[in-house]
Amino acid sequence: MRAAVITPRQKDSLRVIDVPDPRPAEGEVLVDMLEAGICGTDDELVAGLVGEAPEGSDYLIIGHENLGRVRETGKGVECNRGGDLVVATVRRPCPRRCFECRNYHQDMCLTGDYFERGIKGMHGYMAEQYVERTEHLVTIPPRLEKVAVLLEPLSIVEKGIGDAFRMQERLPWKPGRALVAGAGPIGLLAAFVLRDMGIETWAFATREVTSPKARAAEASGARYVNARETPMEQIVSDHGPFDLIVEATGSSEIAFKAMRLVNKNGIVCLTGLSPHRQTHSVCTDCVNMDLVMNNKAVFGTVSANRMHYEWALDRMASIEKKWPGLLGRMFTRRVSLDRVGDGLRREKDDIKVVVDVV
Ligand SMILES: [Zn+2]
Ligand SMILES: [Zn+2]
Repeated sequence: MRAAVITPRQKDSLRVIDVPDPRPAEGEVLVDMLEAGICGTDDELVAGLVGEAPEGSDYLIIGHENLGRVRETGKGVECNRGGDLVVATVRRPCPRRCFECRNYHQDMCLTGDYFERGIKGMHGYMAEQYVERTEHLVTIPPRLEKVAVLLEPLSIVEKGIGDAFRMQERLPWKPGRALVAGAGPIGLLAAFVLRDMGIETWAFATREVTSPKARAAEASGARYVNARETPMEQIVSDHGPFDLIVEATGSSEIAFKAMRLVNKNGIVCLTGLSPHRQTHSVCTDCVNMDLVMNNKAVFGTVSANRMHYEWALDRMASIEKKWPGLLGRMFTRRVSLDRVGDGLRREKDDIKVVVDVV
């Protein structure tokens, strides 16, 4: 079968090659891939910054955002059948089965030795087929087929925002307003989730107000602000503070600004990666003083477990019902598997580029 592969940690090694066809063993399912989403992690894999091939392989099949259809089930598989639409989760438990992995929370793995399909130690989904154990597959209702490739990034958002609300059970919390910094796929999905929860939401990013990202945010009822024209401080001084800030740009400067500007008793959810090791000067006493005196909470979030995918599926159905076509606006470009390299060359107004595998 055809597959998009890289030689991990080698810059620009992306190629589409023939690899052996996978066969389902007992308890496994063979899935025909339909669509794979491209995300920032794929850029980092191709740039050679991250990535690890499976043991014994000199290449890694990339791709972790996925949608496929079950072709065949191995012996002993009862909860999937041929024709099912499925999305596979990404992270797998560490070999030592730490306490969190043992309890199906491999997104919170304590050892860091977890595997991630398409990223770390396991082949991914940017191939014509894959096999997987049925417990890692989420079955998708046919009415969500057109948007279900967004389930993986939506699971990340569902975990982050859900955890923020669970943490805020520390007080009788009534969040009035939320701000999402960044309007990439994670930022936009966060804005949609907050709007779906009925919260007044502001989206803050560097694109013009006429850009597809700004328009998509506003279509959900979020208010969009161009960060190049209006600094975050000014929004707060003109309109009041935010009870929840979701940071989805990966700028550590914005992360620290969010801690300063979030309301008393508020919470900051950090989702962006900042791999460039930049240094900024910050008054650490001021940060500490402000967090303590104002009961502020700050947390980081990465990956998601199966439960978050299930919740994200309910969320996806709710968003589709309230704003039909909103999620579909995120698909700004489609490429074939053989042209995956074109998909990875970013264009200005890209939101989500999808690889049509079939
Ligand atoms: Zn991703
Ligand atoms: Zn673990």
